[in-house]
Amino acid sequence: MNEESVANWMAEGACRAYLPNTFFPSDGVGVDKARKICATCSVTAACLEYALKNHIDHGVWGGCSERERRRISKRRRIAVQAI
Ligand code: SF4
Repeated sequence: MNEESVANWMAEGACRAYLPNTFFPSDGVGVDKARKICATCSVTAACLEYALKNHIDHGVWGGCSERERRRISKRRRIAVQAI
């Protein structure tokens, strides 16, 4: 994903209409609020892949919390090892 394609999907993000700290919540209630916004977003997949690829470990990206992204990354590593 080059810089231009990153800028393209970021420009389409539903989060543009919210304060950035909405996506860096300090508790589960905040995570749920961010997830609900992500659920309305048209670029969720690109956002999630960006966060996974860049090992971003803070905030809600692509509708997933840090913990959820760690689980996805772990599942992918296991799947690759099984091949
Ligand atoms: S998926 Fe969520 S964090 Fe990612 S661009 Fe969309 S609204 Fe923003």
